[in-house]
Amino acid sequence: MNTMKQTIEAAENVLLHTYNRYQIVLDRGEGVKLFDTEGKEYLDFFAGIAVSALGYGNKALSGAIKDQVDKLMHTSNYFYSVPAMEAGKKLAKASGMDRVFFTNSGTEAIEGAIKAAKKYAYTRDGHGGFEIIAMERSFHGRSVGALSVTGNAHYREPFEPLMGGVKFAVFNDIDSVKAQVTDRTCAIIMETVQGEGGIYPADPDFLRQVRALCDEKDILLILDEIQCGMGRTGNMFAYQGYGIRPDIMTCAKALGCGVPVGAFAMTGRVAEKSLAPGDHGTTYGGNPLVCAAVSEVFDQFEELHILENVRETGAYLRDRLEKLAGAVPSIKEVRGKGMLLGVEFDHPVSGIIAYCIEHGVLLINSGANVLRVIPPLVVTKEHVDQMIAVLEEAIRKDS
Ligand SMILES: *Cc1c(COP(=O)(O)O)cnc(C)c1O
Repeated sequence: MNTMKQTIEAAENVLLHTYNRYQIVLDRGEGVKLFDTEGKEYLDFFAGIAVSALGYGNKALSGAIKDQVDKLMHTSNYFYSVPAMEAGKKLAKASGMDRVFFTNSGTEAIEGAIKAAKKYAYTRDGHGGFEIIAMERSFHGRSVGALSVTGNAHYREPFEPLMGGVKFAVFNDIDSVKAQVTDRTCAIIMETVQGEGGIYPADPDFLRQVRALCDEKDILLILDEIQCGMGRTGNMFAYQGYGIRPDIMTCAKALGCGVPVGAFAMTGRVAEKSLAPGDHGTTYGGNPLVCAAVSEVFDQFEELHILENVRETGAYLRDRLEKLAGAVPSIKEVRGKGMLLGVEFDHPVSGIIAYCIEHGVLLINSGANVLRVIPPLVVTKEHVDQMIAVLEEAIRKDS
């Protein structure tokens, strides 16, 4: 058997070095615990970047996937399948959207959303050349299209020129959005809660004003719910907590709880003028295997009362973090919603994270100074207490 050191060395010799990985080889999971190949246990407040909402070893989910593996994994989108029909219905119902397209990732969902918005405007006006307004500090993915609307110059610069016609506005500043609107604007894209950019929720007034602006000018509002959706904020989708609905939404991460799948969805009004046969496609997207997972994920969310747990345990988690912030001068702010929380320090958090991981608690950052707290949505108050105890120690050792 390989030691972790041997695995890490061999991996570094073959995998393209696009990540500075933690020096752990993860092997298996159980509940909200992960175990490395040498048997060490970790309490997971990272959830594989907000993916593993149901934790690990959910028998109903793994059972549904195994059954589908034995039955039929793939058909291509030239045929119908019961799992795709069922997963589509459940996502449409949960999101308040009418038409769903399944993709293989979040990035591809963004690509689809961009194309859907452009096609809508093209059908309406009979010409192309449309613009999209995106937000500073946003993150929408790494493909050329998704990168073009990502508000991080460091990520974009080496790959320019990217997709043209993108203008950036300041998140939560309606005047800066209005200043970028032209008669060519076809869409405004933003995360309902900015995830990679430091955990910044949209202000309710801002989001309502953007919605009103879009209604007034027939601009499509695209909300990226890839990280903040699927129950993470205490609503199935974060925009439901704002009392508004986007025209197009994107979803991924926890949608398959570990099975790689994303989706973009839209209202019927948009769908009528948008992507038609020949305009968009995918070979794998929405195959029976991933859709069997998606379908079971929605069932498990109900059966395990996930939203109730996010609200209750998320409030407890926030309360514990705020009490910690009150006692620790280097913490500037605790922000976010539900179980998508950020703790901003006045210095980089890499030392704190390293200590926590060494002491069996997995945490992640969001930008250099923000600790991101995104556990599986099944965590309990006892898990929160365990995490806080280690975090307190890490902060003490760090100062
Ligand atoms: C992770 C993420 C993406 C990209 O999703 P991938 O599945 O990594 O392609 C896009 N938008 C947001 C808000 C994300 O958090």
